[in-house]
Amino acid sequence: MSLDRNTTALVTGASSGIGEAVARAFRARDVQVYAAARRIDRLEKLADETGCIPVKLDVRDREAVMAFGRDQPVDILVNNAGLGRALGSIWKGEVEDIVTTVDTNVTAALIMIKAVLPGMIERGRGHIVNMSSVAGLYPLPMALYGTTKGAMHKLSRDLRQELKGTGIRVTEINPGRVITEFYDVAVDDDEQRQEITQTHCEDLVASDIADAVVYCVDAPWRVNVSQMEIAPTEQTYGGAQFVPFKGRDSQ
Ligand code: NDP
Repeated sequence: MSLDRNTTALVTGASSGIGEAVARAFRARDVQVYAAARRIDRLEKLADETGCIPVKLDVRDREAVMAFGRDQPVDILVNNAGLGRALGSIWKGEVEDIVTTVDTNVTAALIMIKAVLPGMIERGRGHIVNMSSVAGLYPLPMALYGTTKGAMHKLSRDLRQELKGTGIRVTEINPGRVITEFYDVAVDDDEQRQEITQTHCEDLVASDIADAVVYCVDAPWRVNVSQMEIAPTEQTYGGAQFVPFKGRDSQ
């Protein structure tokens, strides 16, 4: 698929961060972009700047998502809308945090795919880009968020199997820390947020991920980039931890 004005992309979560950067990068290539999110004021500003088409869409609104997929031909879906809650301790979060995170990061992403895939298969042309995370690949103290991103990882792999013979490509992107509004949504407490976000390292910026998405989508049709993990040079994952338990003697 060539990235030009004959290509149509739907980018969810385009009102900030990675989604906004992807929408900008696609527009720079003249792609027709539906930029979707709830904050329509942000999308309208983006539309003024880039010429994208703003779409007020709550990805948790199943009927609206299905209707969009039915009515608009989409060549590229960037399944990016997402959030994190109850980071660090799922048991300290609210039940609502669990419901919202799973609904937004997994259920909505699945329904989005269901909405656009029939058209892609019929037209014999399509690319689904799922925004997962390193949290979907490595053990991190983010059990809730990691569960949802792990689901996106499996979804991306399994979808490749289900789509064999259709010509539709599937890519999973696994970013490490990117400076966006993610932690403003994820962490309510200012002090805790500052503690988590001040890495004293050079984090990724949203356009780093957008550049990767453009590479995957713009690659010759024979090339399916199945997975791309992108971390800051100064961030690493994995490793064992030994933490003494104070109550060990009474066990
Ligand atoms: P931002 O908070 O900057 O962006 C999140 C986007 O998702 C916003 O545009 C928001 O739009 C949208 N969104 C959230 N809920 C809904 C909803 N119900 N309906 C429609 N849109 C929604 O964070 P990022 O750009 O960092 O996050 C983008 C993706 O990247 C997420 O899936 C995140 O998990 C993933 N990611 C982020 C990393 C990071 O370090 N920042 C690392 C790895 C992955 P609005 O509120 O206007 O609806």
